[in-house]
Amino acid sequence: GCAPVRFNNQTDNPPKGHPMNYQDYFKTRLDALREDGNYRVFADLQRKRGAFPKAHHTGKDGAGDVTIWCSNDYLGMGQHPDVLAAMHNAIDTVGAGAGGTRNISGTTHDHVLLEAELADLHGKQAALLFTSGYVSNWAALGTLASQIPGCIVFSDALNHASMIEGIRHSKAARVIWKHNDLDDLEARLAAADPDAPKLIAFESVYSMDGDIAPIKEICDLAEKYGAMTYLDEVHAVGLYGPHGAGVAEREGLMDRLTVIEGTLGKAFGVMGGYIAASAELCDFVRSFASGFIFTTALPPAVAAGARASVQHLKRSNVERDRQKERVAKVREGLDAMGIPHIDNPSHIIPVMVGDPVKCKFISDTLMRDYGVYIQPINYPTVPKGTERLRITPSPVHSDADIAHLLGALEELWHQCEVARVPMAAQ
Ligand code: PMP
Repeated sequence: GCAPVRFNNQTDNPPKGHPMNYQDYFKTRLDALREDGNYRVFADLQRKRGAFPKAHHTGKDGAGDVTIWCSNDYLGMGQHPDVLAAMHNAIDTVGAGAGGTRNISGTTHDHVLLEAELADLHGKQAALLFTSGYVSNWAALGTLASQIPGCIVFSDALNHASMIEGIRHSKAARVIWKHNDLDDLEARLAAADPDAPKLIAFESVYSMDGDIAPIKEICDLAEKYGAMTYLDEVHAVGLYGPHGAGVAEREGLMDRLTVIEGTLGKAFGVMGGYIAASAELCDFVRSFASGFIFTTALPPAVAAGARASVQHLKRSNVERDRQKERVAKVREGLDAMGIPHIDNPSHIIPVMVGDPVKCKFISDTLMRDYGVYIQPINYPTVPKGTERLRITPSPVHSDADIAHLLGALEELWHQCEVARVPMAAQ
């Protein structure tokens, strides 16, 4: 909720003609965040070329080298030599910016090649690039839901903000179903007008709990009730499936999904978002989505770097296999120390602290005294009482890195006597 607004004259109801003191209002709201322990402080980092997960940190307590344990550069591809070479080469040959929107001179050959690569990755007829994963969800869902008359969107309760905003923006009817709950989804599909167009929007790997949706069963329901499916694989592309196309690839389900959405900014290590779908659906979104049409295209070097990353992870399992082994090793260490974490089938390890102030204290101390960087995850990103440290081991975290992390966590855990969080809180 909003903190009380204070005005020039410090009364709650300013007389007409006395406008709000805007700066005062901003400060009041920010102070309220600070009091709740939910004020966001960004770590000032300088990544090191070719040296992930190491970075240089500049903070109020000084500057020093740190090991990053919370990056979404899940496989370290943001420092991969093939990706860097492709980006350098593109800058050297075609320069910096795209020079326009996709419609007006900004469709470069690098964009065209990347879209073809992404369509192929997901076994779809076409793919469409956006500035980010956020924009792809917002624009594609917003467009489908608003441009299909009478469309009802069935949205998983834990969907990402970008999907929620897109659906809201569409003003389409929205039905929220309980997270990963097939019975609830079916009951809601059955209750809807059988003739209304329907779209089921959900994710594969949910980023904060690391749990995975029952994709096959959701596709079964979609087919039974004549709904389209929209699957966000942002935390899965590059990471799952024999070619890194995501959980739907691993489970042999790509052809049953209407739309697969992904990012180029996490496991692929660069920037950008996309949808992969039928040629007609992509053409439809391309033609009606303002978030696609009225914005400058990504720099060609970004598209070239992303393509090199996708191509590498299509043919190499080395990074994925090593990441799985690293994740298992961190989990074993946490179990041995009795530190509670959500037991999920993904690469994300949410260590449950359950208190925003303690969570921030542990994170600050890890950074200052141990050179370990794990951003605290507090409300509203996660529900109150489930504050956590979200750890994402990568293939390039060494045995020494892991031993150091576990040793530091053990010391701090005892120091602040963090209560065990019941797993039901997830
Ligand atoms: N979908 C999900 C599930 C996400 O977690 C995020 C970002 N954290 C996005 C979409 C947005 O992707 P991007 O970071 O590429 O904008």
